[in-house]
Amino acid sequence: MGRTAAVDEARERAHLLIRLAAIALGGTLVLLGGAGGLSLAAGVLLLYLAAALVLRFFPAARRVAALSPAVDLVAITALVFAFPLELAPWILYVFAIGAAALGSGPVGAVTSTALAVVGYDAALILRGEQARATDLWPVQALIAIGLVTAEIVWALRRQDLETIWSRVHARALGALSRQRDPSEVLRTLVTEVAHLPRVRGAWAWRLGTDQRLRTSFTAGAAPAGEIVVSAEALRALRSPGGLERIVPDMSGLAIPVSTDPPITMGVALDASSPEERATTAGAIHDLVGDAGSLLAAAFERVRREEEAASLEATVRALGVIGAERAQAAVLASCLLEAGTLVGGRATIFRLADGTVIAGDLPGSALLELARDRRLPAIVPATSSPAVANVLEPGATVALVGLSEGRVLATIGTVERLTARLPLLERIAHGARDRLALIAERDELQRAAKELGRDVESLGGALRAKEDALATAVHELKNPLTAVHGYATLMSRNLQAVQGQLAQLERLMADLLSTEQRVAGVEGAVDAAAEAKEAIARARVRGATIDLDAPAESVRLAIGHARFAQLLDNLLANALKYSSPAQPIVVRVNAGEGEGKVSVTDRGVGIPNEHLARIFDRFYRVGGASEAVAGQGLGLSICKEIVAAHGGRIWAESEGPGRGSTFTFTLPLALRTPAA
Ligand code: ADP
Repeated sequence: MGRTAAVDEARERAHLLIRLAAIALGGTLVLLGGAGGLSLAAGVLLLYLAAALVLRFFPAARRVAALSPAVDLVAITALVFAFPLELAPWILYVFAIGAAALGSGPVGAVTSTALAVVGYDAALILRGEQARATDLWPVQALIAIGLVTAEIVWALRRQDLETIWSRVHARALGALSRQRDPSEVLRTLVTEVAHLPRVRGAWAWRLGTDQRLRTSFTAGAAPAGEIVVSAEALRALRSPGGLERIVPDMSGLAIPVSTDPPITMGVALDASSPEERATTAGAIHDLVGDAGSLLAAAFERVRREEEAASLEATVRALGVIGAERAQAAVLASCLLEAGTLVGGRATIFRLADGTVIAGDLPGSALLELARDRRLPAIVPATSSPAVANVLEPGATVALVGLSEGRVLATIGTVERLTARLPLLERIAHGARDRLALIAERDELQRAAKELGRDVESLGGALRAKEDALATAVHELKNPLTAVHGYATLMSRNLQAVQGQLAQLERLMADLLSTEQRVAGVEGAVDAAAEAKEAIARARVRGATIDLDAPAESVRLAIGHARFAQLLDNLLANALKYSSPAQPIVVRVNAGEGEGKVSVTDRGVGIPNEHLARIFDRFYRVGGASEAVAGQGLGLSICKEIVAAHGGRIWAESEGPGRGSTFTFTLPLALRTPAA
């Protein structure tokens, strides 16, 4: 507004100067014309001066548009009439034409010229008797001056306007190119266009998928916020043209700025001359054209940034899913990450029956959408009334296949889902691979567990066999040693050889059978009698062995073979770990419910710390006893037999070189009633 006022002010000042120049020239003519009839001219000049001052200093007087040129023409026509014709007062019309051109441009110059010609002719007619034909030439001169003035003013104006437009264009372009965000580019464009001369308002229209035009970023006059577009108007939106095609009661321009997304620029124009309108429209088209490419670049940048961000999100999501160790966790992560990617909700359901595995959308409704459809698919919710009821209006569902008949459904806008579908598929692939790996791992773990169990039982069986073999070898040795001794004595002890062979047979049958050495059906033995036989067997090997037993028999609850095994083992050790000169004593006692048998030698003895451990399998004492051959099995077999029959066994020794005593107890056999 300030700028317009300044321009008006300058124009009025120029007007006053032109009028003063005209009055000065008129005054000169008055002086040249001498006295007489010129008093009328002088009076008109004074009136003209007064009118010029009033027009200059009283803005109210300028409100009547035609007043200013009318004052000029009337005053000058009055002067032409008052002056003598030879003074050429018509020249004063030039000032009137100039003033009109200044005020109203070429049109003012032409109009003022025409009126000047009419005024001059009127003056000549009124002064008919004095006028000559030659006095008509000023008419041609006036027309020529008027046309030249009009042409000059028009040229000046056009140049001026072009300068203004190019300045405006440059400034607007500068402002536009500083924007990076598409919405900021649009907002700037709207603001800049709205500031152009003869523009009443500007706005951006966005065409929604629902075929509605939405007005945004308005500046100045603008249509309603939302317009339902007819098919015809929709077509019109695709090319630049009159605003009337879309909003019938508005005059202006509608220019498409972008097609993806579809955005149209609307401009409401002042009612003005077709020429001015064309100039303005040209300027706006130029500006919108330039803004269009800036906008396209901004949209492209945003798209690229979004693409990069969603790719990053997908990579992260795949990382999260790939790190999960359980099936349920994979499904939960897949659901969360897919929801984040599309900025909406997600659900995983089973295609067979619509059971929801994870998520909160109704599986039955989703099943209806997915039925008979090839996946992946993007389906508008409206395609099923059941789904349309439970989802927000305009929502769309993307369906992507997971593994084993499971489907991942995400809800969002159609644009977003379309853009993200490949990424959703990648996430689904990731989840599928992970699920397959986890299933494979679980299967392997199960198989490994089974294998472990098999290996364990096989190992156990193998160990048992090894034990049995070691025991067999050891046990067969005692009778063999005895047989060896008896064999040297030959015929004298043939019966004893047979006895030992029988023991060997028993042992072998026993070892070959799978039964364990357990108490039960073997019956009972007379401990003293058995001890005597064992001593007899041992004596063959040249030992001095005494028996210390009570007169009454001590019957123990153990089979003959096992008891013989026990005594043979203990006597064999007593012999092994003492010299033949050192005596050995076998003692048999009966106690409270149990009988006790001990073998005492005067041999190498056993250090205290070994006493408890010599009954372990393969345990042998170092030092003096190590020189004697052995496997560390005999005592462990004894312990096993005694324990199996409900007894105990232990060793005592007063130390190295002072002999040892091995004692075992066994339950007394219940007396069987005499038959
Ligand atoms: P081995 O075949 O080595 O004799 P045993 O199980 O019969 O195996 O005995 C275990 C160890 O106990 C022997 O190596 C020996 O050091 C010690 N031992 C067993 N009996 C006697 C004993 N009468 N006197 C001294 N040491 C003995």
